[in-house]
Amino acid sequence: MRAVVVGGGLAGLAAALDLADAGHAVTLVEARPTLGGAVQTLPERDGDPPPPPDNGQHIALGACTEYLRFLRRVGRGDALARRPLALPVVDESGRVAILGAGALRLLRYRHLPLRERLAVARVVRRLATLDPAEHDDATFAELLGAHGQSDAAIHRFWDIFMRPALNVRCAEASAALALFTIRTGLLGPRGSSDLLLPLEPLGAMHGDAAARALTIAGAEIRLRTRATAVEPGAVLLTDGGRIEADAVVVAVPPDESAGLLGEDPPPLADSPIVSAHLLFDRTLLGFPLAALLGSPAHWVFDRGRLTGTRPATGQYLTVVSSGVPELLETRGNDLVALLAGEVTARLGPADLLWSRVSREPAATFAGRPGTEALRPGPETGVPGVVRAGAWTRTGWPATMEGAIRSGRRAARLLLDGA
Ligand SMILES: Cc1cc2nc3c(=O)[nH]c(=O)nc-3n(C[C@H](O)[C@H](O)[C@H](O)COP(=O)(O)OP(=O)(O)OC[C@H]3O[C@@H](n4cnc5c(N)ncnc54)[C@H](O)[C@@H]3O)c2cc1C
Repeated sequence: MRAVVVGGGLAGLAAALDLADAGHAVTLVEARPTLGGAVQTLPERDGDPPPPPDNGQHIALGACTEYLRFLRRVGRGDALARRPLALPVVDESGRVAILGAGALRLLRYRHLPLRERLAVARVVRRLATLDPAEHDDATFAELLGAHGQSDAAIHRFWDIFMRPALNVRCAEASAALALFTIRTGLLGPRGSSDLLLPLEPLGAMHGDAAARALTIAGAEIRLRTRATAVEPGAVLLTDGGRIEADAVVVAVPPDESAGLLGEDPPPLADSPIVSAHLLFDRTLLGFPLAALLGSPAHWVFDRGRLTGTRPATGQYLTVVSSGVPELLETRGNDLVALLAGEVTARLGPADLLWSRVSREPAATFAGRPGTEALRPGPETGVPGVVRAGAWTRTGWPATMEGAIRSGRRAARLLLDGA
């Protein structure tokens, strides 16, 4: 079978690997100069300290078994640090409490009064019995409210857990996606809630590693090559080229996918992620990562420590803000001042030596109520053509795991039909 995969994000890479591993002739077409899609290292700039900044810190959970398998397949299974979920959370006055999985950890979470912690522990057990598929018509905050959870519990506990997974606040998130995340991440088999943190620049351990694995498996990779249409038996390119194909995987974002397939775009809204990489003249954060309560700087990562490349002096932090569209309009200098100011207000004064901003307006789809019905499955109306992408109907939020699962599922459909 001659297979063409359009899109070199994790979905396309996973599909291409499965097709090539099954012995088929695979061509992967990617519009950008690098593979990896949303999982990228920024192009190098003079004056950047090592390691090169990524487009945004990525985290996975132990439950992300397909992501782990993908990294092993591309030879980078050792490029992740695995640690039990124990998140330092810094409140408005700089006090730290550790948030973790399990009733004992929860009961020690001092940013909520004890009776609220007990209520959260009770509700976690009740939520575990609900079927996510029956709850896509309400926000997670509405569901929590119906189970007696206070606004304080939602802001000071649930938003910390849910925001990185769903990239929207509980007040916006589909209860179905939140329930899925709780079941899979918090209440799954042992190790499911473990945090998986990349130890290398994202581009090296995902796109570059996958390029090597695909080349060894015999696939052809065409970078800087954009597809304009997919028709039965061929993929058409912007340069007028045409690639004959017995099978095609379309693994690109929703609007682009609809354009290639001649469909109406699904009305999925985007949710942004904004990151600031900040080199301070002294050490501020005593943990590898921390969440800031009640701040637009949701997460702070010690990038130097996590990647084993600490600066000679000071500390290299990455600050991430998830699902705040207003920050897309904030000018670069103002954004740095805002996020650096949030960090120093909580963690202590310091001078900023270097900074770099990354904005991803469409980092994920906004997983709001009603979203699940808008996510198509892998089948398309075009014979021999299947669809993939983190945004397709995987049951998972828009994550690396969802992308890889969708790519493998798309490849499986083609292989079963071959
Ligand atoms: C800043 C940021 C932080 C994130 N944090 C996390 C996290 O912590 N944990 C997590 O699990 N997920 C996270 N995500 C989400 C995750 O990265 C994505 O859900 C996933 O990588 C999407 O993969 P994909 O293959 O579906 O799509 P994409 O990565 O978008 O890949 C699609 C590819 O198709 C290419 N393309 C588009 N049109 C064409 C065309 N016409 N022809 C050829 N090529 C085309 C694009 O250039 C792109 O490379 C984050 C995303 C961002 C941006």
